[in-house]
Amino acid sequence: MGESSGAAYPSLSLSWVTLIVVVVIGIFSLFSLYMGFQAYGSDHPEQANYYIIIGTAGFAAMGYMFFRTRAISAARLEVPRVDVVTTLECPECGLKRIREFVRGDYVYKDDEPCTRCDGRMVITRIHRREKEKSKR
Ligand SMILES: [Zn+2]
Repeated sequence: MGESSGAAYPSLSLSWVTLIVVVVIGIFSLFSLYMGFQAYGSDHPEQANYYIIIGTAGFAAMGYMFFRTRAISAARLEVPRVDVVTTLECPECGLKRIREFVRGDYVYKDDEPCTRCDGRMVITRIHRREKEKSKR
């Protein structure tokens, strides 16, 4: 399991910068489209095409930025994945074993045969995995 290095940028300032950029692009795009429609009625209809292309590109950039920020926030929500483990104990010999949680596990369930004696291991605990590396 690798450590993600995604917390490099501050989220608050990033969203503010994005918002301002989106608003500026939006005003600029609306203005370009407005100028384009104005130019259609004038003597230079080819100028109108330029304005409309700029305006459309601005809206496309806005949509792209919205998509990007959505993707970033969705990826952030996915990061804290809980690692659940199951503790098994043999009531006969007291052997303890920890393994990954499997769907269908529940406490007091007879799970797998004991590796040391003929007993059956019983699930005694289902919990989060304790961090092996301690922070200093
Ligand atoms: Zn045993």
